[in-house]
Amino acid sequence: MHFIIIGGGLSGLAAANTVSQNGHTFQLLEKGTALGGRVQTSKINGHLIDHGFQVYLPHYEEGKRFFDYTSLEFKPFDPGALVLYGNGNYDTIGDPLRKPSTVFNTLFSKVGSFGDKQRLLKLRKKAYKYCQNPDSVDTSMSTYEFLTKFGFKKEMIANFFIPFFSGVFFDPTLDTSSAMFLFLYNKFASSLASVPAKGMGELSNQLAAGLPQENIHFQSEVKSIAKKSVQVAGGSNYLGDKIILAAPDEKLLNEAAIKRQWRSSHTIYFESSTSPHNKKLVGIVAKKNSIINNISVMSNVNSSYAPSQKHQIAVSIFGSEFSQSIEQQIKSECKRWFGNTVDQWEVIDKRLIHQALPDQQQVSFHFDKAACKRGDNIYRAGDAMLNGSIDGALKAGRLAAEYAMQD
Ligand SMILES: Cc1cc2nc3c(=O)[nH]c(=O)nc-3n(C[C@H](O)[C@H](O)[C@H](O)COP(=O)(O)OP(=O)(O)OC[C@H]3O[C@@H](n4cnc5c(N)ncnc54)[C@H](O)[C@@H]3O)c2cc1C
Repeated sequence: MHFIIIGGGLSGLAAANTVSQNGHTFQLLEKGTALGGRVQTSKINGHLIDHGFQVYLPHYEEGKRFFDYTSLEFKPFDPGALVLYGNGNYDTIGDPLRKPSTVFNTLFSKVGSFGDKQRLLKLRKKAYKYCQNPDSVDTSMSTYEFLTKFGFKKEMIANFFIPFFSGVFFDPTLDTSSAMFLFLYNKFASSLASVPAKGMGELSNQLAAGLPQENIHFQSEVKSIAKKSVQVAGGSNYLGDKIILAAPDEKLLNEAAIKRQWRSSHTIYFESSTSPHNKKLVGIVAKKNSIINNISVMSNVNSSYAPSQKHQIAVSIFGSEFSQSIEQQIKSECKRWFGNTVDQWEVIDKRLIHQALPDQQQVSFHFDKAACKRGDNIYRAGDAMLNGSIDGALKAGRLAAEYAMQD
């Protein structure tokens, strides 16, 4: 069979690998000039710059199927977080089950009450239970409602869960489904959030490396899909027995009426000759009305992210504007925690992604053939079919390819 795959993000790459490993041929059409979609890394002034701050969770089941972990050489963050308060103090919240040396900090940190710390351990069990048997846990509510019902105090939600998970979901009010929360909590609790030695884009490069490069067409934006053919901007037509749509482009299927909402993300990358701290932790901001959501010193986690003698700091902010005054605002907030050395920080790059994650008030972790088939020969992939994660994108690509191969 011959496949046309639309979109060269992780979902399209997973579909291409699946069909080609099963002896089928394909043409992959990508509108941009590179593969990887939302998971790419560029080299700028000697820095590895991911296209928006993101991490990989090695316990992703689909990732284990597709990636060769050994050659990715993951560099892990430490578990927990660095909580940055409005008064200029900061504090670590660790993971007592996995890293006993953090027990002291975790039990006595100002983040939550002693009861909350115990609830954290219970939550870990609950998240595990949910992943083993999704029907055993009621996830019909938002993450915020779930945490409140679980008994966490307002301060714990405000000082830990909102700052941490708003940066994961790009959702400051935690309206995201509690199913997605439990799925990710379990992954965070059971594996260390990591980045590959050569940057997040290496995930995409690895999937692309096994594919026949002559079958990948760049600057090929698909404009319309018919039964067994697709038309690309400029007029070329490609014919295939099956078409897999792995691009978040609903208008191609006349699904505009479904109109999915997307959440945006904005990361500003700075270079500094001194590191603001030496921790391999995501810094989350527990301060109302802060422009900053999270701060990570990427070069602490993976020294190859910055040239020697330099450091790289990734700051994720709320809002889509970037100007001199926002740069100053970021720096003046950061000075509270890291002092005047922040004055030397220089902007290296900014990444604003409008369609960063699909809205996740409803998510799923599997779909059947009927849910992905659109007409006789067209199959839908992409993270929005399942959930906004690397795992969701890979699985949606694989399932769409498997269903198409069965027909
Ligand atoms: C800043 C950021 C942080 C994130 N953080 C994490 C994280 O920490 N952990 C995690 O697991 N996930 C994270 N994610 C989510 C994860 O990156 C995505 O879920 C996943 O990469 C989506 O892959 P995809 O292939 O479905 O879509 P995309 O990567 O969007 O790929 C779609 C491709 O289709 C192409 N395309 C679009 N329209 C057309 C057309 N008409 N014709 C041809 N090609 C077309 C696009 O150019 C693109 O290459 C994050 C995402 C962002 C943006």
